Amino acid sequence: MGETPLEPVPASAGDLLPITAVIDGAGHLRLAGCDVVALCREYGTPLYLYDEATIRQICRDYRREFGERLPGARVLYAAKAFLNPALAALLAEEDVGMDVVSGGELYVARAGGFPADRMAFHGNNKSAAELAAAIDAGVGRIIVDNEHELDGLERIAAARGVRQAVMLRVTPGIDAHTHAKTTTGLVDSKFGLPLVSGAAEAAVVRLRDSASLELTGYHVHLGSPIFGMEPYEAGIEVMTEFAAAMRDRHGVTWREFSPGGGFALGYTPDRPPPPIAAYAEAIATALRAGCERHGLPLPEVHIEPGRSVVGRAGVAVYTVGARKEIPGVRTYVAVDGGMADNVRPAMYGSAYTAVVANRMRDAAEETVAIAGKFCESGDVLIDAIALPRLAPGDLVALPASGAYNLAMESNYNQAQRPPVVFLRDGVARLVRRRQSYADLVALEAAP
Ligand SMILES: *Cc1c(COP(=O)(O)O)cnc(C)c1O
Repeated sequence: MGETPLEPVPASAGDLLPITAVIDGAGHLRLAGCDVVALCREYGTPLYLYDEATIRQICRDYRREFGERLPGARVLYAAKAFLNPALAALLAEEDVGMDVVSGGELYVARAGGFPADRMAFHGNNKSAAELAAAIDAGVGRIIVDNEHELDGLERIAAARGVRQAVMLRVTPGIDAHTHAKTTTGLVDSKFGLPLVSGAAEAAVVRLRDSASLELTGYHVHLGSPIFGMEPYEAGIEVMTEFAAAMRDRHGVTWREFSPGGGFALGYTPDRPPPPIAAYAEAIATALRAGCERHGLPLPEVHIEPGRSVVGRAGVAVYTVGARKEIPGVRTYVAVDGGMADNVRPAMYGSAYTAVVANRMRDAAEETVAIAGKFCESGDVLIDAIALPRLAPGDLVALPASGAYNLAMESNYNQAQRPPVVFLRDGVARLVRRRQSYADLVALEAAP
């Protein structure tokens, strides 16, 4: 036997899969030097694989592209896209910060040893207990969303005798041109202090006079995913104007500014995301222009990518089971996962592509729908995709499954949550085992 020849995955799927993806001599998908077919045999399916090199590379790309253009720029990973202790530990090594949105995310991040001073705490309805936990942990920034939160925060910080650094989340009234459920910058949004109503300005005045809270700057998050640069440019224009007005009217200047996250991820070959450099260039250019126009100092920029940091690294692998051919209508090929591990197609109509992990060299022969196994007609992962003729036991792998899949997972139909395996340099590390049937009743009282 000679050396197994490895070849790259064709660009159509290769740009969506982890950067380490190759096809081996047996026609199997390999990630980080690991045979995906062998991993499925070992851990079963559905299986979530994460390529560590992809996550690390993207963190470095963000730090470099933004850091070169905006000295002192900081990258905060938005943990809601996907979080476990293993990821928190990996990200701590990559020297990025982290956005958390709940006491639970704060807890899990710290369980991975992630330093609290590199965290920013977000959320539109943080509880008093969450605010207290954040302050006690030493969270670097709390992103204030509304007046109610400001009341609680002042009380809690004052009682502890600390001065907590905060940023104000402002709703600029900008349409990010994304899905209605994921746009957040409009005036009619549950997030943030509206600029037009004067609520944002009132909060600035209140913070200027606060002994227990220190305002470091402003934050906007417009939505996700954002494929064009216009929403960021428009948001920055509005926010530099606001920052100048706060300086002129109230003597408050900014040191920090966050244009949020929402940077796009490639899910299907027909819609590639802009390169990170394009976002960095657009944001830096708009910010420098706005600061110059208004005579403002250039603030330290905090960017908050979530989806785009972990999305490409993650691959979901399923085993093919039943097949249903409806002549003249559609052929459904059912897999052993679906909306319990990936609700995005059912919730947002999100599009995905797929490869057959055990037959990467086989040509497409038919167009099928990839159906999930859960009891909803809407549980279809892919409406129509051209693939080799699938047989029971074939392994269907969906690229770009790393963000907001497991983060939104459920036990619907009493599904057991899938295992998570991190891959690095030919080594597979089980970071979460599959739930067992016993786990399904572990929290229940005995009848
Ligand atoms: C969700 C969110 C992000 C990250 O969005 P992505 O699309 O995952 O990049 C960043 N900042 C805030 C405040 C968010 O709510």
